[in-house]
Amino acid sequence: MINRLCVIGVGLIGGSLALALKRAGFVKEVVGCSRRETHLQQAVELGVIDRYETDMAKAVEGADLVFLSVPLGAMQSVMQAIKPGLAADTVITDGGSAKGCIVEDARAAFGALPEGLVPGHPIAGTEKSGVEAAFPDLYQDRRIIITPLETSDPEAVALVQAMWEAAGAHVEKMNVEHHDEVLAATSHLPHMLAFGLVDSLARMKDNDEIFRYAAGGFRDFTRIASSDPVMWRDICIHNQEALVKMMQRYKDDLNEIELAIGNGDGDLLLEIFTRAKESRDRFVDLMEGSSE
Ligand code: NAP
Repeated sequence: MINRLCVIGVGLIGGSLALALKRAGFVKEVVGCSRRETHLQQAVELGVIDRYETDMAKAVEGADLVFLSVPLGAMQSVMQAIKPGLAADTVITDGGSAKGCIVEDARAAFGALPEGLVPGHPIAGTEKSGVEAAFPDLYQDRRIIITPLETSDPEAVALVQAMWEAAGAHVEKMNVEHHDEVLAATSHLPHMLAFGLVDSLARMKDNDEIFRYAAGGFRDFTRIASSDPVMWRDICIHNQEALVKMMQRYKDDLNEIELAIGNGDGDLLLEIFTRAKESRDRFVDLMEGSSE
């Protein structure tokens, strides 16, 4: 049970967590904070937060748990801003889509890693953003990866785990580096393909016609290209190493397909497509519904 939760960045991810925890009766009071007061007023009107502060240090004062759900590029400055208001035992976690950068940001902002810091990442989301997109079921039966650090206090880890479970999620633990590699492959690379494909087609002559005749497969495949550009710019920059490695590997595999097409090598194409179909059919039940 959390007496006071402070959500910094009351958008889709932070707002949905607040709604889920309120509904579960796991939190007594939710205080919100972000840059724009109009967003915070809206969050109060929607019942997502109970009250807000515009000063970050003030917002975290007296909070048992602080949840950071701002774009990755804003994490370090937010950590610096909340630092004066934190108590020694405040638990800090986040919903950021890459984890190595959170550890680096925390080291830079706090000087050393606080014992209360337990980074996390919900494998849940939609392509919508802002508090109006938040809903209490977002985490229901979804996976949440938490990446406890050597410095993390076991009680803080237990509270973060209990919080996500109260929101309806299944919690898994992973180390930071492994998280960033896995997510580069399963989430960040597919977003690059969707953004890249839509942009490439949009810049072609007669793009009206191309989009008019685009059928269901194109719509499904490119849904995630409607995701927030700022968030995705930040993810690319903050998970650069793992993502570039995955993109290079993918380009090699795509080249192989291109060569097979150019050579009219139907056997190789059939082999690749059959292998892919079998893998997808086998794993489809394991896949999470997330815009991420
Ligand atoms: P969002 O809906 O756009 O919400 C972001 C919130 O952060 C907004 O309330 C915004 O409010 C605030 N904000 C932005 N820049 C800020 C800054 N410099 N200082 C303080 N507040 C700031 O985004 P989201 O989808 O919830 O994503 C939040 C985090 O969750 C990101 O780190 C993202 O990587 C991660 N994530 C997203 C998804 C997904 O599918 N969307 C899934 C998993 C994880 P103001 O404009 O009022 O400042």
